[in-house]
Amino acid sequence: MSLLDHYQNALDVLKKQGNHRQFTHNQQQGQWLTIASKRMLNLSSNDYLGLAGKSELKQQFLQQNQSLMTSSSSRLLTGNFDEYTAFEQALSNPFAGRAALLFNSGYHMNIGILPALANAKTLILADKLVHASMIDGIRLSQAKYVRYKHNDLSHLKQLLEKYHDNTDIDRIIIVTESIFSMDGDEADLHGLVRLKQQFNKVMLYVDEAHAIGVRGERGLGCAEQYAVIEHIDFLVGTFGKALASVGGYLICDEIIKAYLINTMRPLIFSTALPPINVAWTHFMFEYMQGMQKQRQHLQQIAQQLKQQVIAIGYDCPSSSHLVPIIVGESEQAVQKSRQLQDAGFYIMPVRPPTVPKHQARLRISLTASIAMRDLDQLVDAL
Ligand SMILES: *Cc1c(COP(=O)(O)O)cnc(C)c1O
Repeated sequence: MSLLDHYQNALDVLKKQGNHRQFTHNQQQGQWLTIASKRMLNLSSNDYLGLAGKSELKQQFLQQNQSLMTSSSSRLLTGNFDEYTAFEQALSNPFAGRAALLFNSGYHMNIGILPALANAKTLILADKLVHASMIDGIRLSQAKYVRYKHNDLSHLKQLLEKYHDNTDIDRIIIVTESIFSMDGDEADLHGLVRLKQQFNKVMLYVDEAHAIGVRGERGLGCAEQYAVIEHIDFLVGTFGKALASVGGYLICDEIIKAYLINTMRPLIFSTALPPINVAWTHFMFEYMQGMQKQRQHLQQIAQQLKQQVIAIGYDCPSSSHLVPIIVGESEQAVQKSRQLQDAGFYIMPVRPPTVPKHQARLRISLTASIAMRDLDQLVDAL
């Protein structure tokens, strides 16, 4: 028996359950995706503003930035290129002058910040549906941790009342997303801020991965839309989705930034991104602030699709451009998504354990390049 058998057996189990994953080859042209010479409307994209497909922007950018390909080390050694500081300054301005700090990815950011901030006298209260990167960050930390029911602020309040006066707890960090990946629904940021203000040990951590670029007049996220930028202690997000780049960011107090530079392990012990990526993110960040039209279009098609999906009898909790169609059992989701792919719509099934039992779904992720008439055909096919 070889040492590899253990891993092969685990793969066989996944195959039997229909849960085995593989990379697929695909080619992308704007909102279209081709797999095995089948062309489909891409309804599984993170390119929410359609920025990744704009080749004229890439040409303009490359003419200006030819010398920035290589990185060399962590920013604390010799890797702190001007592009980093320039972009952090440019991020700080629209975010009310608060400090900004960049990371190599959203995943790095979430697994790094929480362990640096929390010690054994910290309690983390996390929404039941937060992204795996935050779960991993919490697990790497020394904090005690409790999940509250998804978007249930009365449950959260009960937990705050239960733990707040415990002398073993110095601080409580509430961790949530603003728009949730699987349900496409939103956290009540006003409610969370109000709750935080009733307790003096509480800090708020909000991940805007699906909202940056998409929400707010300038695309700064739900925190801009609901005017709470200054009330969120740790406002984080990724450049890997709507901004068609790579990297993560934190908006916070100057003191927190200085503290993380001294304590956050993924920031200290990993080579920083090549400056060209940071310069590209900066370029995209400036450009996307003027994309009000695309943001409006995206909200419009999302609302209409949701109404039509509900009208034909499906459950749909979404209030954003992420529109799940909850069909129930895994087999139904797999079969339905195959059928829709045959009809020319690239839609992925999402099954337990990623989502709760009996809530398998088709996850539609809309982008601003998609027209309403494309979606009318989708609803017919459903
Ligand atoms: C995608 C995502 C991340 C990870 O961001 P990357 O930049 O892709 O590593 C983190 N948090 C949430 C909520 C996400 O959806």
